[in-house]
Amino acid sequence: MSGTDSASAAAAAAAALVDPHESASSSAYTANLHDPFSDEECAIVQKNIKAVEDKVQSTYQERMLTAASAAVPGAGHPVRIVAVGKTKPVRALQAAYAAGQRHFGENYVPELVAKAPLMPADTLWHMIGHLQSNKADELLKKVPSLACVETVDSVKLATVLNKAVGKAGRDKPLDVLIQVNTSGEDTKSGIFPAESPLLVELALHIKKECPLLRLKGLMTIGMPDFTSKPENFVCLQQCRKRVADAVGVAEGELELSMGMSGDFVQAVAMGSTNVRVGSTIFGARVYHHHAPAAAQPAAAVQPQQ
Ligand SMILES: *Cc1c(COP(=O)(O)O)cnc(C)c1O
Repeated sequence: MSGTDSASAAAAAAAALVDPHESASSSAYTANLHDPFSDEECAIVQKNIKAVEDKVQSTYQERMLTAASAAVPGAGHPVRIVAVGKTKPVRALQAAYAAGQRHFGENYVPELVAKAPLMPADTLWHMIGHLQSNKADELLKKVPSLACVETVDSVKLATVLNKAVGKAGRDKPLDVLIQVNTSGEDTKSGIFPAESPLLVELALHIKKECPLLRLKGLMTIGMPDFTSKPENFVCLQQCRKRVADAVGVAEGELELSMGMSGDFVQAVAMGSTNVRVGSTIFGARVYHHHAPAAAQPAAAVQPQQ
């Protein structure tokens, strides 16, 4: 190993100590929370939010105009923007909040429970990462303004979440989405394959057996590298039809959470009601290691056109 290699290996080892996704215990989570984030960066975040809102709005307007001919169910459902602040300091999220943003997404329970008390009480949190059943109680207790768990992928998780809502004494049911694997490619454990009869089974279970959960719709990440193809969005629409028929609601009543920084415009055009946008608002994420290729950082926060 050359001198440079061992120096960078040492740097990587040091960085690993603060990697949020390697931290073992939720009470110990402090990584990134109070990283510096300048006034200039805050202003850029606010500008980026405006730009994303404008693009979502104009695409939504076009969708409404073509909805009749395209017959996209739910085309008239407004589109929610979930600002995904994972790995970003609380100051960045506060800048977004100050610009009027209320829905925020995190994919890691320790990071979400650490950030929630540092944000205003009316911040609406979306859990968008894989949720282990044994984290449900903590999530519900520590995040009273949890708005949605977008990643329900098993009967067991639904049952546990339903109980956790009761134990936490929430005054309203918890919205949930069923996460669907729309790529057909091997993905991490627990993500639901689109063709599986379990999809309808899970939807019926939530409807019939989980009175404290409200089945709001379906969610997809797309491909394993977090990009999406139009086929993924079409697949999620088809899954919604199956679920809507099975549980006896109109298709348009079920939401579609699809679209991220790289493809939210396309997703809205294809009927998304919930886009999850991270790096386009907050800038590229810096992971210290094990970063998936698509999530590799480019540079600091950049203005969006
Ligand atoms: C990180 C993440 C996003 C946001 O990704 P960007 O490409 O930065 O917009 C959306 N959805 C999920 C599930 C994520 O984990």
